[in-house]
Amino acid sequence: MSHYTHYLSVFYLCSTLLVNAQEKKDFRIHSHNDYHQNIPFWKAFSNGLTSIEVDVFFKNGSLFVTHDESEIIRDRTIENLYLEPLQKVIELKLGNLDHLQLLVDFKSEAYRSLDQLIATLKKYPDIINDSRISIVISGNRPKLEEYKNYPSYIHFDYQSLEKITEEEQLNKIALISLNFKKTSSWNGKGKLTTSDHQKVSSVITQAHQMNKPFRFWGVPDSKTAWKTMKEMGVDFINTDDPVESSKYLQSLDRRIYHHQNISSVYTPTFEFDQKNIPVKNIILLIGDGNGLAQITATEIGNAGRLTLTQLKSIGLVRTQTADDLTTDSAAAATAMATGIKTYNRYLGVDPQGQPTENITELLNQKGFASGLITTDRMTGATPAAFYSHQADRSRQKKISHDLIDSKISLFIGGGADDFEGDTLEKNFEIVEHLEMIGKSQNTKVGHFLSKNDVPPIKEGRDVSLSSITAQGLAFLKKKNTPFFLMIESDQIDSFGHENDISGIISEGIDFDSAVTEALQFSDQTGNTLVLVTADHETSGLSLPEAHPKSRIIEADFSTNDHSTIMIPLFAYGPQSSEFLGVYENHEIFWKILKVLGVSQN
Ligand SMILES: [Zn+2]
Repeated sequence: MSHYTHYLSVFYLCSTLLVNAQEKKDFRIHSHNDYHQNIPFWKAFSNGLTSIEVDVFFKNGSLFVTHDESEIIRDRTIENLYLEPLQKVIELKLGNLDHLQLLVDFKSEAYRSLDQLIATLKKYPDIINDSRISIVISGNRPKLEEYKNYPSYIHFDYQSLEKITEEEQLNKIALISLNFKKTSSWNGKGKLTTSDHQKVSSVITQAHQMNKPFRFWGVPDSKTAWKTMKEMGVDFINTDDPVESSKYLQSLDRRIYHHQNISSVYTPTFEFDQKNIPVKNIILLIGDGNGLAQITATEIGNAGRLTLTQLKSIGLVRTQTADDLTTDSAAAATAMATGIKTYNRYLGVDPQGQPTENITELLNQKGFASGLITTDRMTGATPAAFYSHQADRSRQKKISHDLIDSKISLFIGGGADDFEGDTLEKNFEIVEHLEMIGKSQNTKVGHFLSKNDVPPIKEGRDVSLSSITAQGLAFLKKKNTPFFLMIESDQIDSFGHENDISGIISEGIDFDSAVTEALQFSDQTGNTLVLVTADHETSGLSLPEAHPKSRIIEADFSTNDHSTIMIPLFAYGPQSSEFLGVYENHEIFWKILKVLGVSQN
């Protein structure tokens, strides 16, 4: 290695470390050419931008806000568009004024323009005496040696990496700005090349060695570019889109998640998978809101491996309801439980509001036992669609009565308080401990995981869905009859609604542990078909960036509600091929009847 390359690699290492050290550093967003916004100043200020750029041209005694003399519009002056609003911010204590940089970019001759600005600013003592506000001159500027002759509230934008030795001159420099295009021709998509990354890093390092904050102009204006500049330690993120950049960057820390624990996965034997042999039992696992992006995020969070994603029989399911493109959990679960599409909010009733027989009622007549497991309240829409018939999912009292009279033999879920004063004990043995489910000799048994909502995994839920599933399966197996078991992981959906990626992944991994339990049962029995699907996708999740090795995921959300995108169904065990292809959610019901060889009465 030559001295030169050695020097380079050491330099690169140092700058990489510096960038890493700066990752947590504060950044500010700079509203480039702010006067082009439909509402100058206020749009940037109200979105939390703390650096605002205004191009100014001095003509006929006024400082006009414009890029070019030919584009001057009467009364669009720096006073009207920037100084008056800023005065109001101070006077009326509007917004959050911690620090604000007004970058005045002179397009007219430097000296006369700056003298005029100083004369104008004298009318605004509140602005020039406020230590939170800095007035910084860019564009046409006086000579560096003359900076010291200007008032203390005037600072300058330095557009070079040439070292300044004079302390007095250095003190007048507010920031260093450089044209990005001089360093790289990156378009703001994907990644900088290694050599461009090195060049850009080196520029930022040199600026920081002068102890000044740094800004690129002419830099790509995209989410990827904003994030890259932030991660590389650029102090002022340059943008023409104050609203989107602020929304994106301020939420970035919340949307980037590093998953810590790796959960073990099970490798299925595939001994009975896709075999044309009789199916005795059905285990239907529903991840509420668990779309393909959620599964991908969960897999990456679990170091690139899940039990679920090893399965081979995969279908895509359309989730539209009878009245809407986007389904809620009630209509989606009703489709799977009763084989008909109904309206949103309806549970176990058709669009006319008439009760329709559900799978637990039908199978009860055929000698099957049924169980329902959920991390929601037992009266939640997904489990309720499998035992209740109500034209509104919010009729909690009626729904809880429907459970008492239902045909199911097993339930495990939250929300004991929903049944207070009811006669649930008349029909079910309610056991205090989960472990008593598997040992119970009763024909009907239930256990409540909580009085109200079941706590999420990330808030300390100490019982995994796999151990809940194991208890349910132990109870059903003892009956020596065929069974149908529905298991819902409810809170993937709740965290989707909250746009919380850490919650989605921790619940997703918990869901996968239940999948493991179900597949092991299928492998042991050879006659159990396992179906793993969702009722709908929640949050319009996308994953702009993710690293399975480091388990770091950036999530982006397009809604805090459900989306209409198709959801996957993974099938495992005998006759799983029946579930290949693209189909409607209510067909899941008919496919289940078909593989079980039972028909409606
Ligand atoms: Zn939901």
